[in-house]
Amino acid sequence: MSDMPAEDDIPARLEAVRHALRRAERTAGRTEGEIALIAVSKTFSGDEIEPALIAGQRLFGENRVQEAKAKWPDLRERYNGVELHLIGPLQSNKAAEAVALFDVIHTVDRPKIAEALAKEMALQNKRPRLFVQVNVGEEPQKAGVAPSEVDAFVATMRDEIGLEIEGLMCIPPADEPPAPYFALLDKLARRNGLKGLSMGMSADFAEAAAFGATHVRVGSAIFGSRPRTA
Ligand SMILES: *Cc1c(COP(=O)(O)O)cnc(C)c1O
Repeated sequence: MSDMPAEDDIPARLEAVRHALRRAERTAGRTEGEIALIAVSKTFSGDEIEPALIAGQRLFGENRVQEAKAKWPDLRERYNGVELHLIGPLQSNKAAEAVALFDVIHTVDRPKIAEALAKEMALQNKRPRLFVQVNVGEEPQKAGVAPSEVDAFVATMRDEIGLEIEGLMCIPPADEPPAPYFALLDKLARRNGLKGLSMGMSADFAEAAAFGATHVRVGSAIFGSRPRTA
């Protein structure tokens, strides 16, 4: 990522990220193109997102239900094949909107949310794919299931709530090397027979690829820096 194109050249930045991801896949001995690149478009407007759509990007991540609801129905009408990922915290009173709007939800972390999602999925006859968020660094300010509670939570989702889970998601602590946390998420997923690993952001997606990421969530490397941390 040393030759980053200009902040506003989104197609060039997107291509640089794709290139770096393919290189990371090769380096890690993985199949080129197997890692899903989610372009995190939170805080950016439809006009800013559109160049990425024109460049062929179809997987996008948003962290707020209301913001996604304001931006995406219109873009979806104009571009086929968009897959929308919810990567931010979910309140159970937003479960209906989340199920209606998103194809994949990465942030299931409480039985109450899982139950609200299960109810809405039955009502709407729509089944977004689900990831369980794990608070790998056990940080008090972060959402997610504690590592020691993952096995029990996954079992509850499967056996009591009847929801299938695709994988685990994490946001490692900001000021530490992420590798041990990526390894931990991989271990927890394997132990529970889960294939999906949603991990790796702008600063560390190549490293996440080496630890088995199936989905990386990349925002600022594609769209430029955000006005504030969102
Ligand atoms: C904002 C965000 C990202 C993208 O972060 P960048 O550092 O801009 O790539 C990824 N995952 C989650 C959960 C986020 O909230």
